[in-house]
Amino acid sequence: MFKVVVDPDICIGDEECVEVCPVDVFQLQNGRAFPYQAGECLGCGSCIEVCEPVAITVTEE
Ligand code: SF4
Repeated sequence: MFKVVVDPDICIGDEECVEVCPVDVFQLQNGRAFPYQAGECLGCGSCIEVCEPVAITVTEE
């Protein structure tokens, strides 16, 4: 299991993570990415790579 956190104060809502995540963890809510399906995360790290503002952290639980 992986814990996915988006810092809403850092996220700029560019949807890069929404586009890249292979299992659709993210959804835009109120202009910010929200990991609404965090339980699906595979821990691939792709969202972290594409997030220029560095708003996302993924940690193994
Ligand atoms: S680490 Fe991979 S599977 Fe997990 S939220 Fe990011 S892009 Fe999706």
